[in-house]
Amino acid sequence: MRYSAFSLFRETLNKHRGWKPTWRDATPKSTYDVIIIGGGGHGLATAYYLAKEHGLTNIAVLEKGWLGSGNIGRNTTIIRSNYLLPGNQAFYELSMKLWEGLEQELNYNAMVSQRGVLNLFHSDGQRDTYARRANSMRLHGVHSALLDADEVRRMVPILGFEEARFPIKGGLWQARGGTARHDAVAWGYAHAADMRGVDIVQNCQVTGFLREGGRVVGVETSRGKIRARKVGMSVAGSSSRVAAMADLRLPIESQVLQAFVSEGIKPKIPCVVTYGAGHFYISQSDKGGLVFGGDLDGYNSYAQRGNLPTVEHVLEAGMSMMPSIGRVRMLRSWGGIMDMTMDGSPIIDRTPVEGLYLNGGWCYGGFKATPAAGWCFAHLIARNEPHPSAAAMRLDRFATGHILNENGRGAQPNLH
Ligand SMILES: Cc1cc2nc3c(=O)[nH]c(=O)nc-3n(C[C@H](O)[C@H](O)[C@H](O)COP(=O)(O)OP(=O)(O)OC[C@H]3O[C@@H](n4cnc5c(N)ncnc54)[C@H](O)[C@@H]3O)c2cc1C
Repeated sequence: MRYSAFSLFRETLNKHRGWKPTWRDATPKSTYDVIIIGGGGHGLATAYYLAKEHGLTNIAVLEKGWLGSGNIGRNTTIIRSNYLLPGNQAFYELSMKLWEGLEQELNYNAMVSQRGVLNLFHSDGQRDTYARRANSMRLHGVHSALLDADEVRRMVPILGFEEARFPIKGGLWQARGGTARHDAVAWGYAHAADMRGVDIVQNCQVTGFLREGGRVVGVETSRGKIRARKVGMSVAGSSSRVAAMADLRLPIESQVLQAFVSEGIKPKIPCVVTYGAGHFYISQSDKGGLVFGGDLDGYNSYAQRGNLPTVEHVLEAGMSMMPSIGRVRMLRSWGGIMDMTMDGSPIIDRTPVEGLYLNGGWCYGGFKATPAAGWCFAHLIARNEPHPSAAAMRLDRFATGHILNENGRGAQPNLH
């Protein structure tokens, strides 16, 4: 059903008895044109754009748990396109443009809030690095601004300016960045994909691949065998495990990233703020909670929970950026499993196995990428060729040397 002011009015008169489920709970058919493994944001977006942009409707999204149980419902909700490298910039800007029209497109309130993203800098060297990034953004037609310390203070006075260990010298500002309600993004894509006939199958774990002459022709699942002409993997932190079922070894490790939320306080942080002297990022939810995170836990794991030393490490960075955060009580923390590639950038590519496609390696940045990842992965699956905006996100770049190292750090997943 479509949501509108009229449907709200009608259901109010009807005592809200006529609302239909947001998507059908589909029973899997025996054959599909395309199967997408993974009902996170990326898998659902891919199915939606396959149906909408490429006219395919015989599609299933297979999810081992419930929609939103993965990283789409666990992240800190930050969206932005303040990237440096050409191979990334066009892709994340495509995503930002899709975010800007997403709610009308999906007929769903995903609470996209362009409240701005502010990256603090604390030294002359760091300012130069951000000036370079700001110039690169502008060269790609993306607005950016360098703010001085007074402008930052006027914007977010609660930050630690007086006697700070690392005094704030200014910030890189992207006004179009911000946040979106993470699980509503999954629900919105599920709603819109379902309206176009996509089967969304929950509690359906893929346990193996059906192969004929080396080609993938379907999947084995906890609900039986399902055949398909093409199969796309969009399983976030489980990419290596699922790819291994097709005898593929990926240049990926899986590590836990934690997120935290505090009790609700008065509005104090009007935008997303990231710390330059440590890894810490924070925003304030509409309910008033401070939502923040920092570094990975730093070792390989498939546990969806984190360790205490990392909690201490993240809060230390928070205290150093904004000492008053020490007076706020923390409500919850949780963890999600993330694919970490060797250069910190994702992979959207065909695999060496015919009929099998990969969207993975999303590291810290996969939520902001959700619309563009779906758009470009759908293009790849439908046309068998990469979308121009994702052409650098190749699987073979670690062999050919064309790496996409946005942060310029070394070839280890925990460095990105
Ligand atoms: C704590 C945390 C904070 C983050 N913060 C941000 C942020 O602020 N901004 C940002 O851009 N990114 C952020 N990220 C990263 C972002 O959340 C992920 O990169 C992105 O959500 C991954 O794509 P997805 O939504 O499709 O993943 P998921 O929601 O994890 O979807 C993958 C799905 O595949 C399913 N699956 C796995 N194996 C199988 C199988 N065998 N069969 C069937 N289904 C299977 C899983 O159950 C899961 O639902 C954060 C991540 C975490 C963990």
